[in-house]
Amino acid sequence: MATKVETSQPDGALQTKERYAHEPGVFGEAIAYFNEAADRLELPRTIRRILTHPSRQVIISIPFQRDNGEFEVFTGYRVQYNFARGPAKGGIRYHPGVTLDEVTALAFWMTWKCAVVDLPFGGGKGGVTCDPSKLSPGELERLTRRYTAEIIEVIGPDKDVPAPDVGTTPQTMAWVMDTVSMHLRSHTPAVVTGKPICVGGSKGRVEATGRGVMICIEAALEKMGKQLRGQRVVVQGFGNVGSITAKLLHERGAKIVGISDQFTGMHNKNGIDPVAAADYVASPTNEKRSLEGLPGASAISNTALIELECDILVPAAIENQITAKNARHIKAFLIAEGANGPTTPEAHQILSDAGITIIPDILANAGGVTVSYFEWVQDRMGYYWRESEVNDRLKDVMRENFDEVWNMAEQYKAPLRQAAYMLAIRRVVDCYQTRGIYA
Ligand code: NAD
Repeated sequence: MATKVETSQPDGALQTKERYAHEPGVFGEAIAYFNEAADRLELPRTIRRILTHPSRQVIISIPFQRDNGEFEVFTGYRVQYNFARGPAKGGIRYHPGVTLDEVTALAFWMTWKCAVVDLPFGGGKGGVTCDPSKLSPGELERLTRRYTAEIIEVIGPDKDVPAPDVGTTPQTMAWVMDTVSMHLRSHTPAVVTGKPICVGGSKGRVEATGRGVMICIEAALEKMGKQLRGQRVVVQGFGNVGSITAKLLHERGAKIVGISDQFTGMHNKNGIDPVAAADYVASPTNEKRSLEGLPGASAISNTALIELECDILVPAAIENQITAKNARHIKAFLIAEGANGPTTPEAHQILSDAGITIIPDILANAGGVTVSYFEWVQDRMGYYWRESEVNDRLKDVMRENFDEVWNMAEQYKAPLRQAAYMLAIRRVVDCYQTRGIYA
């Protein structure tokens, strides 16, 4: 019989101690949202204690050879935060700022993101502290293969399934898949997602995160009794998530009045064509791959962009862009967080108090991991779906779970962010209740 987890009311003193147990650091901050939701759910202390500790943290040294023959040793990580719902799932980040603390926080968020869209995955994340822009393709391949070989015992289709993140690409995932397949002497495409289509990637994966953001926006407007057509939208960040969100919203009749990248913001109150903007960025003569100089729009700062007159704001660049400083000046009535962590907790409070609806990152940008799940399923079946099938299934998953979060928010009179955490925590806890704690 399954062991029942403790169901007594949480102990106030212990709660406080647990709440600050991991501070300071990104992980400590990440736990703040979890704690608020856990308080609302009156989560028993045993389960709270388990859920505020990562299951496994792997630190590795990665010797690799430079093109000039010299050897260097980089540090890499793989954190598997939680396995209650299934294999760990989460990207691999190559960035100079990667630390164990950051990777742990990212793996923690993945746990809730997978649970909020009801995928049979736990949460994981990996990373290597390096600057990929300073590595040649050959160096990147050697680094990736050695990193993969060092974590090969802990990853696998039933253990932990990585994917791309900042600084890694579908090509990186192809090297991970090939390295594992060579070591195991067995074709293993389901060990990693976000692969190029020719090696077992899924159709629709590239657009999936932006598509998920668009689906959430449509769902929220529907709940508010509004239409997407004619809404004025500002999108910060014009990479994978931002450009595709803008394109899909534009196709459905929204007016994109502002877009930006790391170099500039661009504004036109009469509307910007995001397809023409993407072509402009990708054109061979645009060496910086920047929106700077985009015809038919005027340059503004990224700060001004966030505060533009609009109805819907989509932060889709980096974290901490909506802060206590600019939150009061935001005009949008709806914010959909395409990026991870774009809103600070103080800003979230200000926006909530002002009655602005925020679709939180763990829900709004979960389209990417959802299609990663579809990729894993297709790889395991050896049967690949049409793009329309992928998109239809993505819509079903996003709509169904958006509704659950919305209902939870109404039931508890909570902001959507807290409701999303509550739903995700409840789903993970259900697994513990049923499986029992092997102690
Ligand atoms: P990307 O690298 O393709 O694009 C990022 C964009 O943000 C670029 O246009 C860049 O110029 C811009 N940018 C960077 N710094 C900026 C700044 N200070 N101000 C304004 N713009 C800035 O990255 P992406 O894949 O689109 O990811 C964007 C965000 O979405 C990240 O937070 C990422 O973690 C999150 N996310 C991505 C996916 C995915 O599938 N790609 C899934 C879930 C979440």
